Amino acid sequence: MDNCIFCKIVAKQIPATVLYEDDELMAFNDINPAAPVHFLIIPKKHLSSLADAKAEDAILLGKMLELAPKLAAQQGCAYVEHADGSKSGGFKTVVNTGPNGGQIVYHLHMHVIGGAKL
Ligand code: AMP
Ligand code: ZN
Repeated sequence: MDNCIFCKIVAKQIPATVLYEDDELMAFNDINPAAPVHFLIIPKKHLSSLADAKAEDAILLGKMLELAPKLAAQQGCAYVEHADGSKSGGFKTVVNTGPNGGQIVYHLHMHVIGGAKL
């Protein structure tokens, strides 16, 4: 997509701190972090928002969700259930959709935010 900032990151036309990349997904640090850890997971394929996802995108969406805890752990935000039953760590996942959802960049992305109690 012309003029899509995240498509330009995928195409390496503009820089980003890339945490993960495969054939379908990319993850990079948010340029304006809301917490010590704040990165975005995007599909390389341009989907404007979650509302544009189709049934055929379900596996892709699932891969985004599956990647979130793995990368969060690599960034120091692992969610841990301890042997004594206590819990620690963790992170927030957010997908903003449309103006009322606070979406600013119209290329589907999942925020992963952590490193502090949110
Ligand atoms: P949203 O409100 O969900 O559309 O959030 C868009 C996010 O993209 C914001 O948190 C921005 O800080 C982030 N963002 C915008 N441009 C860039 C960029 N070039 N590199 C990394 N993150 C960006
Ligand atoms: Zn795009």
